[in-house]
Amino acid sequence: MTCDDSFRSTATTHDEPESGITPGGTSGAFRDVLAKDHARRGKPPLHFADMDAGERIERAKALGMPKFRVKQLANHYYAHFDADASTFTDVPSSLRGDVQQAFFPTLITEVTRQVADDGQTVKTLWNLFDDAKIESVLMRYPNRTTLCISSQVGCGMGCPFCATGQLGLTRNMSAGEIVEQVRVSAAMMQRGEVAGGPGRLSNVVFMGMGEPMGNYKAIMSAVRQISAMPPEGFGISARNITVSTVGVVPGIRRLAQEGVPVRLAVSLHAPNNELRDELVPMNKRFDVDAVLDAAHDYYLASKRRVSIEYALMRGINDQEVHARQLANKLNHYGDNWAHVNPIPLNPIEGSKWTASKPEDEQRFLEILHNAGITATLRDTRGQDIDGACGQLAAKTINMTMPQRS
Ligand code: SF4
Repeated sequence: MTCDDSFRSTATTHDEPESGITPGGTSGAFRDVLAKDHARRGKPPLHFADMDAGERIERAKALGMPKFRVKQLANHYYAHFDADASTFTDVPSSLRGDVQQAFFPTLITEVTRQVADDGQTVKTLWNLFDDAKIESVLMRYPNRTTLCISSQVGCGMGCPFCATGQLGLTRNMSAGEIVEQVRVSAAMMQRGEVAGGPGRLSNVVFMGMGEPMGNYKAIMSAVRQISAMPPEGFGISARNITVSTVGVVPGIRRLAQEGVPVRLAVSLHAPNNELRDELVPMNKRFDVDAVLDAAHDYYLASKRRVSIEYALMRGINDQEVHARQLANKLNHYGDNWAHVNPIPLNPIEGSKWTASKPEDEQRFLEILHNAGITATLRDTRGQDIDGACGQLAAKTINMTMPQRS
């Protein structure tokens, strides 16, 4: 495959439908909960990571640059995590300013950075071109470094216990905005800005703000750019990428057909429809069985165990009966296809949804284990810096934006 061919496969289109409608299959679309400031906000500037091979060459031509320069730019961007054209010594100095403008406009600007876990967790709040805020979290472990990224500004799924859900959906992020979170974080690792010295970003999880399946084309473009080998992508194995969903079944089925072996994570949070209808509004569109059927089919197609995310909420979904129901639901398929990650909820201040008692967490885990289910209490990195999904952005945005009623 030539460099240009692979660029074609990583491209996204720029005529994405208006954000705010998540596919809902035959039963119709799911209407996202929209933020007050949801409106057409214009589009983020077009970036190298948004362009297909043809567009890159066209832009290069317009600047009077031959085609081979595009490959040089890709090498800077993907192999060296560099988007500062003023340092591109292989590009004529007279062109560097134009290259910067035409290919590498600034898409994300750091607002604040919070550090925890002795400097091994770094959470960054980013400002986008329209003053929207998103966040990413970099977590260094002894044998890997994982980046958690956002795919939408806010989220339209409306889960009542979640800080991001309270914001509603402002807009989808562009592929460039998603990929930039990875590029900047990989560069931070390379420069040794995370405690532990220089290192390599090895894993990416789409578990920050947003429902990735609600922005499918952009996240798939990002997945391809993250996983392709340099200079077509960052060279992070697709097996080290996790795409999460709250249960958008058409998205899970579409992902299964891509043939890209990413891990799927399903945020289940409840083992029965009565409870899940309350915790995860999307359940009214796709219920527990529909979501688990699709997730199990994904396992069969990808041969990758599916992660089942389960936020433990005190007295709500963390009792023995819930653990037994969950074990039965998963064992129904009978082939050790899932890995359950119960995680103590990091509560929104003042809400009725709060974290489980440690003894309930342990009992929940024990019941799953006794039923033969693989389950690990998920690490709660960064909890002391508002580590749950969406909370840092939620705090800052609430200070600067009109409140949702
Ligand atoms: S829990 Fe996930 S899907 Fe639900 S509102 Fe929060 S970010 Fe969206």
